[in-house]
Amino acid sequence: MDWIPAEDGIRQRIEAMCARVDAVSQGGIYFYNMPVTELRGGARVVVNGREMKMFASYSYLGLIGHPRISQAAKNAVDRFGTGTHGVRTLAGSLTLHRELEEMISHFKGTDDAITFSSGYATNLTTVSTLVGRHDTVFCDKLNHASIVDGCLLSGAKFVRFRHNDVQDLEERLQEAPSKGARLVVSDAVFSMDGDILHLPPVVDLCRRYHAWLMIDEAHSLGVLGETGRGIEEHFHMPGVIDIKMGTLSKTIPSVGGYIAGARDLITYLRHQSRAYIFSAALPPAQAAAALEGFRVIEDEPWRVKAVQRNAAHFIQSVRGHGLDTLQTETAIVPVLCGTDDRAFRMTSEAHKQDIFVLPVVSPAVPAGLARLRATVTAAHQPEEIEAASTVFAEAGHKVGIL
Ligand code: PMP
Repeated sequence: MDWIPAEDGIRQRIEAMCARVDAVSQGGIYFYNMPVTELRGGARVVVNGREMKMFASYSYLGLIGHPRISQAAKNAVDRFGTGTHGVRTLAGSLTLHRELEEMISHFKGTDDAITFSSGYATNLTTVSTLVGRHDTVFCDKLNHASIVDGCLLSGAKFVRFRHNDVQDLEERLQEAPSKGARLVVSDAVFSMDGDILHLPPVVDLCRRYHAWLMIDEAHSLGVLGETGRGIEEHFHMPGVIDIKMGTLSKTIPSVGGYIAGARDLITYLRHQSRAYIFSAALPPAQAAAALEGFRVIEDEPWRVKAVQRNAAHFIQSVRGHGLDTLQTETAIVPVLCGTDDRAFRMTSEAHKQDIFVLPVVSPAVPAGLARLRATVTAAHQPEEIEAASTVFAEAGHKVGIL
């Protein structure tokens, strides 16, 4: 090819990213994509040949490796094999998928539910199926990337409101065009900060301004509410959310995503959403694991109590050392470090003490708000929680945060 573009933006972006990765790797502070080689029970894992305490897991109820769930996956492979015959709409549907969807709608108190092959795909396809060019979608500034991408793909007018700021949302709703549909979308628990959406005033605004409400329960399923049913249960407001989204990859130890809601909404998504119609069904093992995951939550209610107790303990303990954990009230506990470099050095110190935690830096969070994003689960023991927060405090002193 003779023609060479004067400015090859693709090449420049690749080189810039590779240079950043190389620089961090050479400094010995690259912590991403580290493989876990073994599960040791409880919150213990083996990484790089060392047994470490896992403080970065999304398995909020400690269900990864639960014997009933693993056995359900094995049974599904024996019965159905490892794949499906294609997309759900054509030959890909199994009885297992329907049982899972019935279980989700029972658990979430809705008429029906639909599953997709990832949480990311669920948000992308749902938002972009429900709204389009003449509509407006309102999105909290800290919503997950999959929601943002769904908004952008939809072609709807994309309006972002200040984080968890009800007054700002109301002003944005007042300014919205009177024509076209309105959709308000938010995380229930914000994935980087761990704080909880102020649901009651948001519901009120949606009713007054005739907007649909969609809530992503990725980090609240199993974590919020007396029985782990999520944010509606937490605020004692059953049935107020129109479109209840969740993942099957966190509290539920599988993969996939769901929307639970009214029967007509689900029928519409089943016949209109592109990630359902054009992408293969969940594999049998994963559908069966997810189904059994919900059953275990119902049969072992102590797990929900344990994650809530551990979250309160962890937050209190980390804050007690003088570290800044922002507004978290849940199992996601950010430990603010400031610069990216401090977050990397804090991580390194924690790993030396066999605490497996990971840093989150810009652009995932705003520059200057780099942090350790620690998580706590039902599987942690009180003494492990105390030990981890002591390690963070010692590391904080070493790198100059405290
Ligand atoms: N929503 C939120 C709030 C998330 O944190 C995530 C995953 N990090 C997703 C959606 C996407 O889910 P999945 O990983 O199951 O694709």
